[in-house]
Amino acid sequence: MPSLKIAIQKSGRLNEKSVELLKNCGLSFENYKSSLISSVANFPLEILFLRDDDIPEYVQDGIADLGIVGENVINETGVDVHYLQRLGFGKCTLKIAVPNDSVFAHVKDLEGKAIATSYPVILKKFLDDNQVNATIRTISGSVEISPGLGLSDAICDIVSTGGTLRSNGLKPFADVLSSEAILIGKNGIGNHAIVKELLQRIQSVLKAKETKYVVLNVVRDNLDTILSLLPGVKSPTVVPLAEENWVAVHTVIQERDFWEKINKLKAAGAQGIVVMPVEKIIM
Ligand code: ATP
Ligand code: ZN
Repeated sequence: MPSLKIAIQKSGRLNEKSVELLKNCGLSFENYKSSLISSVANFPLEILFLRDDDIPEYVQDGIADLGIVGENVINETGVDVHYLQRLGFGKCTLKIAVPNDSVFAHVKDLEGKAIATSYPVILKKFLDDNQVNATIRTISGSVEISPGLGLSDAICDIVSTGGTLRSNGLKPFADVLSSEAILIGKNGIGNHAIVKELLQRIQSVLKAKETKYVVLNVVRDNLDTILSLLPGVKSPTVVPLAEENWVAVHTVIQERDFWEKINKLKAAGAQGIVVMPVEKIIM
């Protein structure tokens, strides 16, 4: 089968997680920093290493069949591509921020003001949706210094911890877009056999990430209580132990309520709890 091409970020915030995801899908490839393209030895796929800003257009134009890129970049480039899978990493929020001492209370208060951003397309849409007329000053970097320099009244930029905002005397004011990394494909590629196979593998890796494999020991008398704490599981495996009246319970639990669950299991008499990562879950 002729191979497809997937574009991922060459270096930066999405590179490592993108490589890790593909490797966890069982794909074996070299990840030299110097090369622009790498073939996968055991899957019909070639990997293109690009600047993230170029990925949406490469996919739209079919130079790459697939791509992994932040939703912020996809929206900003305004391309026509197919969202195949949200990937749960590279999470960030595009926010409007204003100087600490400013008196803006509503988005409407931005009327007639100047906002500096590297995301003019997304910002324009947000302002239009909120029926606000403001001047958009497009700058490519260090957006957060522009109010201090008197170049703008506000900024619209990616905020993760807020540290950069604080050190520039700014405070978050409005959320414009929540973003994460997305697997995109050129239109029509979703039905391709290679894409279907890759998607199935990605989904099994993502599913496994949310899940832990747990083994615990419990006295038989407490077994019912323990099992009632594991409602999500169809039927946990219960194995008798060499020591009389003791059993081991094997089960999977979801990451989100992990600690709460473990504490309840302990309180109900679970002992020797062993927690293991799950590599893949094939449905
Ligand atoms: P390139 O050299 O590929 O153009 P870049 O400097 O534009 O890289 P990065 O800073 O590596 O981009 O960010 C890539 C993507 O990571 C962003 O577009 C965004 O989707 C996501 N991201 C996640 N957290 C953050 C963050 N704290 N700041 C900026 N981007 C983030
Ligand atoms: Zn970039």
